[in-house]
Amino acid sequence: MVIVGGGIIGSSVAWSLASRGVRDVAVVDVDLAGIYAASELNAGGARATWWHPVNIETCLATLDFFREHREELGFRERGYLWLYADRDLFARALAKRALQNARGLGVERLEPGAVRERFPLLDGAMHELVGATFSPRDGLVNPNAVRAHYRSHAERLGVRFLNRHYVTGVETQRVAGAAGSLRRVAALHVVGVRSPGAGDESGTLREILTTHRVPEPAREAETRLACDTLVNCLGAWSPILAAKLGISDPAEPVRRQISLVDVRREGLAPGVDLDELGMIVDASGLYFHPEGAFVLAGYSTPDEAPGYDFDYDGDDFFEREIWPRLAHRASAFERCRHVRGWAGLYAVTPDRSGIAGAVAGFANLFEAHSFTGRGVMQSWAVGRAMAALVATGSFGDHDLAPLSRSRFSDPARWVTEELHI
Ligand SMILES: Cc1cc2nc3c(=O)[nH]c(=O)nc-3n(C[C@H](O)[C@H](O)[C@H](O)COP(=O)(O)OP(=O)(O)OC[C@H]3O[C@@H](n4cnc5c(N)ncnc54)[C@H](O)[C@@H]3O)c2cc1C
Repeated sequence: MVIVGGGIIGSSVAWSLASRGVRDVAVVDVDLAGIYAASELNAGGARATWWHPVNIETCLATLDFFREHREELGFRERGYLWLYADRDLFARALAKRALQNARGLGVERLEPGAVRERFPLLDGAMHELVGATFSPRDGLVNPNAVRAHYRSHAERLGVRFLNRHYVTGVETQRVAGAAGSLRRVAALHVVGVRSPGAGDESGTLREILTTHRVPEPAREAETRLACDTLVNCLGAWSPILAAKLGISDPAEPVRRQISLVDVRREGLAPGVDLDELGMIVDASGLYFHPEGAFVLAGYSTPDEAPGYDFDYDGDDFFEREIWPRLAHRASAFERCRHVRGWAGLYAVTPDRSGIAGAVAGFANLFEAHSFTGRGVMQSWAVGRAMAALVATGSFGDHDLAPLSRSRFSDPARWVTEELHI
């Protein structure tokens, strides 16, 4: 059994398969350190307050897992505060509280005055807000620790992680199935990649991942890896593999940028304690939370064109998108310092929910990818569900059927999430 992609999702699926006693599981990845993987470049937010049961429940189960291992995984249950300036969106978010609170999430409605009182950091332009929601059971997690946990447990159960292996092609055959002819994945074509060294200073990995070719000097042996079952966990690169199989994927890679901001150096007003804060999502689309000694702040540029782009726009991005929004909502940020930042890829689907399940028309092909901004917080339950599906033919405790790719042919089945950052 082969899993392609050893990010947080592939690692979780691998561990879950091995926990079920599935033997001979191999995970293939061109860079297990994941320096261009979303699992390495995300914001570490973890919430269950979504609008659809499948997303709420998979996140809820994953957050319970984080909670159980809170020390090791760095889980901090500090809540999500969501600020609204749009009356209609606020009304629709409030309407979802029944669904969320029926599952024990305890989401509160806050008036703008109450926001100011409970979160003294937020002292700017409260008159613009129509209200807020606060979900106390959501929080922050260390995604690297989560991925390391999945991997180390998988390895202990015998999973092999093949690093520096880039999948260039896939071989299929026709087989007879109960409902007619099916295709079966027989093997992967894999090119060994010469180690580009720590941090990819040479740009080799980046070139491979953005052009989808392994340049001559970086190539090592080319091998054929036979597989009886294949699980596509390639995140934002899933459409590349799908295309090789003749499948048109609705997901698109879209760049998302994050800045680290130093505000403590300038001194914070009395009563403002950053360490107590969880995730704050501003009405302007900015989100931020404390991150060690700094504040991590992200903003998704609405007109960002899809593509495999990892360039961080640096001071320009910070000064144009981050700083004005931070300072507008919290005077503490009027004087702060841009420390550094990075860019990673969201795999965005038309309804902003992930794709998971067995791939129709294939006897032995499965997929779990394109979890937009939710892959960390869904990872444990997705791993469990996919392993159950592969091993037994059904999802078991976590039903991912609503995330089947077949939903895209019928907009009534879309799993549309609007509070998407
Ligand atoms: C800026 C940003 C902020 C985010 N914030 C959050 C957040 O707060 N909370 C949250 O839950 N989620 C967040 N996300 C989303 C989350 O990070 C992703 O959904 C999740 O990490 C996806 O994991 P994955 O394993 O599917 O993909 P990835 O981690 O991208 O892993 C895919 C792997 O495939 C490998 N690969 C690619 N092509 C090939 C090939 N041909 N052959 C071999 N290997 C290959 C890559 O090396 C990579 O390791 C954020 C994402 C970004 C970019």
